[in-house]
Amino acid sequence: MNTTKYIFVTGGVTSSLGKGIISASLAKLLQARGYAVTIQKLDPYINVDPGTLNPYEHGECYVTVDGAETDLDLGHYERFLGSHTTQANNVTTGRIYQSVINKERRGDYLGKTVQVIPHITDEIKRRIKLLGSLHKFDVVITEIGGTVGDIESLPYIEAVRQMRWELGPSNSLVIHLTLVPYLAASGELKTKPTQHSVKALLENGVQPDILVLRTEKTLNDDLRKKVALFCNIDSNSVVESIDVSTIYEVPLLMQKEKLDVTALRKLQLPIGDAPKLADWKEFLKRLKNPKHEVRIALIGKYVELPDAYKSIVESFIHAGSKNECKVNLVSVHSETITESTVVETLKDFNGILVAPGFGERGIDGKILAAKYAREHKIPYLGICLGMQVAVIEFARNVLGYANAHSTEMSHASPYPVIDLMEQQKGVTEKGGTMRLGEYPCTIKENTKTYIAYGSENILERHRHRYEFNNDYLCEFDKAGMIAAGVNPDTNLVEIIEIPSHPWFVGVQFHPEYSSTVINPHPLFVAFIRAALNIKVA
Ligand code: GLN
Repeated sequence: MNTTKYIFVTGGVTSSLGKGIISASLAKLLQARGYAVTIQKLDPYINVDPGTLNPYEHGECYVTVDGAETDLDLGHYERFLGSHTTQANNVTTGRIYQSVINKERRGDYLGKTVQVIPHITDEIKRRIKLLGSLHKFDVVITEIGGTVGDIESLPYIEAVRQMRWELGPSNSLVIHLTLVPYLAASGELKTKPTQHSVKALLENGVQPDILVLRTEKTLNDDLRKKVALFCNIDSNSVVESIDVSTIYEVPLLMQKEKLDVTALRKLQLPIGDAPKLADWKEFLKRLKNPKHEVRIALIGKYVELPDAYKSIVESFIHAGSKNECKVNLVSVHSETITESTVVETLKDFNGILVAPGFGERGIDGKILAAKYAREHKIPYLGICLGMQVAVIEFARNVLGYANAHSTEMSHASPYPVIDLMEQQKGVTEKGGTMRLGEYPCTIKENTKTYIAYGSENILERHRHRYEFNNDYLCEFDKAGMIAAGVNPDTNLVEIIEIPSHPWFVGVQFHPEYSSTVINPHPLFVAFIRAALNIKVA
């Protein structure tokens, strides 16, 4: 096959309908039928990337192996497909404008007025096509963020209109996802919002080929026919997406609704054999039939918003299934943990995870949680800031360095056990300037991490400015906290462990970004296994 086919996924009626999950599910089905597929997210906001956004605004910032700070939907794409995404998979309006303005300054448009059409739309189209041509994908699924009708989305919808016209019908496809609300008072499912949403798309010159309808109740044939008639679509291209207990069931639901077959037919691609989903089904079977149960505390400061720790939450689902264990993940706000509440708050957990984070707020609660886990021999996994607080706690309470701290929180600390990385010292800009993306790490033999990974050399993704201060390494080692993993090129400490503790691991990197359904992350798997050995009242 020599041409890449393009599927565009748009959303209507409301936001948060799960375009990312529908895109990932369709991609999974196509991949399971042997196609090379990738998914791209176009975000209509003006930030160049979400790296500078507060998690309250935008949920988790997901990091790719090539160090791009991206939308959390890319996490879903990787978790479903088990393949890497890159910077090219996430494009924002900010990035589009930035490159058009840079070209204008260079003189690339000399003599011309630079406009949304054609210059911005051309840049959008270039970014969409680039992904197809760079990596030779059979199908590129491009998810347009936002809701049809938003001012911000207009240039993207126009780019889709142009691309469809240029590529021809069998080379591209538009899937529109909407909501069919159920009105309890009249006991009816309502299609009018869908009709209006399709009308909004038509006003912009785009006729959807497939409609996916989110619903709480089953759609009957009459309703499907009605939607088809009003929206110029054949009725077997109206797909039901009913609420399910886990997002990982959606691919099977979409298979039942023949979304993959309909899409392939419309793209004139061979349908071939049934999708190979045995591993996926095994994962679901284990997930739904757990033999064990653990309670894990997820300690962070953005806990009001579940999306803030999306990849961590999903990693526990993957690792739970692997261990045939139901993981009851309880969010604990670090600001609620004090000397007087710590025991009461944490006494019923089989494991404690301290989440990544930035800045001073809630730091004392995190340090207390690390202390509790160390002293009570509760399995501990500290991620990034979670590793750093474990180091600070150990310095203060085992080495006796009162006021030991990270220079991120306290410049005046007499014991800066966590300090700014050398390469970060001259950095003043905030966007995209952290230590980002994949770096190698060499693990010491006979450590808990070595056992978990089953290998000495690993690659993991990073997103931080501060590091373990190697001036203190000897003292830590002697007192019982070791550097279990270091970067072989720079000597940065990447993993700390307390060998005398049942399972106390802190990692400077982010294992949660690389856990997938088929390959749960070994550290999460080992952490759950350790938690299973802890008896609580
Ligand atoms: N704030 C810390 C640093 O920049 C930790 C970052 C994180 O947890 N992602 O090093």
